[in-house]
Amino acid sequence: MAEKTLTAIKVDASTTEMREFDIPELSDDEALLKMEVAGVCGTDVSQYRLPLRGGPLIMGHENVGYLTKVGKTFAERKGFKEGDLVFLEHYLPCMQCEWCHLGEYRHCAATEWLYDPTAIRYGYTSTDTRPALWGGFSQYVYLPHNAVLHKIPDGLTPEEAGVATPMANGVQWALFDGGVGYSSTVLIQGPGQQGMACVMAAKHAGADRIIVTGTSKDESRLQVAKALGADDIIDVQVEDPLERINEITGGKGVDVVLDCTSGAGAAPMLLGIEALKRRGGTIVVQGGELPEFPDFPMGRLTRKGITMKSARGHNYRAVELAIHQLASHRFPLERMMTHSFGLSEVDYAIKSVGGEGAPGAIHVSVFPWK
Ligand SMILES: [Zn+2]
Ligand SMILES: [Zn+2]
Repeated sequence: MAEKTLTAIKVDASTTEMREFDIPELSDDEALLKMEVAGVCGTDVSQYRLPLRGGPLIMGHENVGYLTKVGKTFAERKGFKEGDLVFLEHYLPCMQCEWCHLGEYRHCAATEWLYDPTAIRYGYTSTDTRPALWGGFSQYVYLPHNAVLHKIPDGLTPEEAGVATPMANGVQWALFDGGVGYSSTVLIQGPGQQGMACVMAAKHAGADRIIVTGTSKDESRLQVAKALGADDIIDVQVEDPLERINEITGGKGVDVVLDCTSGAGAAPMLLGIEALKRRGGTIVVQGGELPEFPDFPMGRLTRKGITMKSARGHNYRAVELAIHQLASHRFPLERMMTHSFGLSEVDYAIKSVGGEGAPGAIHVSVFPWK
């Protein structure tokens, strides 16, 4: 009889059931990941609310675990062995195109699950696609030869390593895309796990002044942002953010704006354009869920010589640097690792990140064996 794995499976919008699946027979170029921890993020919150696009699916796309049942060819080709603690990227790329050779798996056509129904991403792929185990809210996850793995160094716990995804996005957006570095002045909008990761990346890189904005419900999150390195925090419902930013920067404005509000509409983008310095600033936006808006201040953007970039996931190197940064234990990570849940509590774990479950959630972990 086949071995089984227990999973928490999304069967409908905002509905999860526990279900057992067979663990597949593996060939030489495949392996299995014994899950330790799956991180839950804001994307899970919005995805969970949507109706199913295909069959039911096992969510969980920020996965850390131990390699087990490692095929001989898999081990030889990839340089990993049984028992290694690894972080698994949610992209499952072709490994042949130019983007893949650059480590930019997020741009590979094979990872475009939004447009291509055959594209596979961990946490987004239906159990109808064999062998079903494509998500981290499960005791075991299936790994084909093109799974992208990062080794977790000694001294980093699986739960800490579970912060690798938001941290990698922080490195990508703040450092690679925003160009934050020594002496930068930075505005980070939104004190969620992405905003916090941007704070740490910016601080580590030597930013002079880090300003974080949030709303009144974010009060405790803003305090955590401060503990992680923010110099100034602004509640935009209590104070005029532009006035405060001008005061803090002596009227100069900031070098870089990082919009980590995701879903707060156009307001953060518009504030960002105003808050940037007189010439040559950079704004990194997340507008994926925004409708087009015809009154977008294009003229203002052009006259200020602003560069606008999109926050869209991370590349291979960003993850490596993120893991390195987490392993430095330079920041009080425990301040943002607020909640952990077992497999049977996945529904509540996702709702907690969305502000509808356990209060005060920032980074939430699911432990599939708990
Ligand atoms: Zn995520
Ligand atoms: Zn590719």
